[in-house]
Amino acid sequence: MAAHNHQEMLAATQTIIEEALLKLGYGSDMAELLKEPLRMLTVRIPVRMDDGRVRVFTGYRAQHNDAVGPTKGGVRFHPSVTEEEVKALSIWMTLKCGIADLPYGGGKGGIICDPRSMSFRELERLSRGYVRAISQIVGPNKDIPAPDVMTNSQIMAWMLDEYSRIREHDSPGFITGKPIVLGGSLGRETATARGVAIMIEETLAVMGTPLKDARIVIQGFGNAGSYLAKFMYDAGAKVVGISDVHGALHDPDGLDIEDLIDKRDSFGAVTNLFRKTISNDELLELECDVLVPAAIENQITADNAPRIKARAIVEAANGPTTLEATNILNDRDVLIVPDVLASSGGVIVSYFEWVQNNQGYYWSEPEVDVKLRAMMVRGFREVVDVHRSRKVNMRLAAYMVGVRKVAEAARLRGWV
Ligand code: GLU
Repeated sequence: MAAHNHQEMLAATQTIIEEALLKLGYGSDMAELLKEPLRMLTVRIPVRMDDGRVRVFTGYRAQHNDAVGPTKGGVRFHPSVTEEEVKALSIWMTLKCGIADLPYGGGKGGIICDPRSMSFRELERLSRGYVRAISQIVGPNKDIPAPDVMTNSQIMAWMLDEYSRIREHDSPGFITGKPIVLGGSLGRETATARGVAIMIEETLAVMGTPLKDARIVIQGFGNAGSYLAKFMYDAGAKVVGISDVHGALHDPDGLDIEDLIDKRDSFGAVTNLFRKTISNDELLELECDVLVPAAIENQITADNAPRIKARAIVEAANGPTTLEATNILNDRDVLIVPDVLASSGGVIVSYFEWVQNNQGYYWSEPEVDVKLRAMMVRGFREVVDVHRSRKVNMRLAAYMVGVRKVAEAARLRGWV
């Protein structure tokens, strides 16, 4: 099921890339270059489990394009990771870096595993094994990993330590999303959510709705979803629905987010502690101003898109809305702020982290936040500009802005 969805997801991404390049005046050669990663490595990682037996895990690392600079992107640990998914995610990273104007191309990694059923030590061995397996193709000036779905700063710390041991020198710029004491950046942990919050503010301004009157629904309570819920709650907006892997909670008067965050576990599960009010499917169809899918791919599909009641969708997850659903929602005038724009706060602050590592000079949190806001707002306005001036939908506009730089760089290098 997942593999099939991921194939469609990759195919849809390739279709929009082609369309964007065509609109920008490029021919089919450029599309041929950019529709697949330049490099895709599959690895097998043997891990000694706590019971003494060995399990062999499969992992991937995709490097979409390095015409602009080193490749950059997270590593996800999830049971349904596939090769096609990692490829699509690496292409989206190129687009995010392009919109934010970062000196990177896109990369992405994934391991097929279920971290919720593994011990701390097993996760450490898996993380270190992955780095040993991909060490030849990564590095601070080659390809820079980061956290993604179900990976966190502790996993980055183990990966950094393994890489430094292999290379026999300290290289904090090899990975981002590290703990602060190991060279992480202030503001990185909350960066994706901060970026989404900034996009919600911009979206509401376009819609003419004050943040204080806004009703927000958030699907997913992991790194992005939980911090976002907190930011919205603190800003006085009403978070009327949240969900996690177990189910969803709904309160039209607004949920007590502080209480939910206190109770959540490290993978973001909290609804299992309550009598569930609604299902995850119902959550997506709630009456609200902004719906924020902040979990995984393919959540808004041709099936449920006609029933979505949100006025706007701000995509905090990667790929939550299928191409068919995008078309249905566009026809219904639901404003979509696409993933490659809305969720770029994480990689933007990862870039700040890498710059600080290269300089050996560290910034204050307000400095990080001010720079993040400036980049996100500029990206938003550029995408809206292209959306209006070229009369294309927001997703195509975002792809056009996102692919421009890498295509130009590839042309100047004489690749196409
Ligand atoms: N995994 C995050 C993303 O999908 C962050 C990547 C990074 O910081 O490099 O954007």
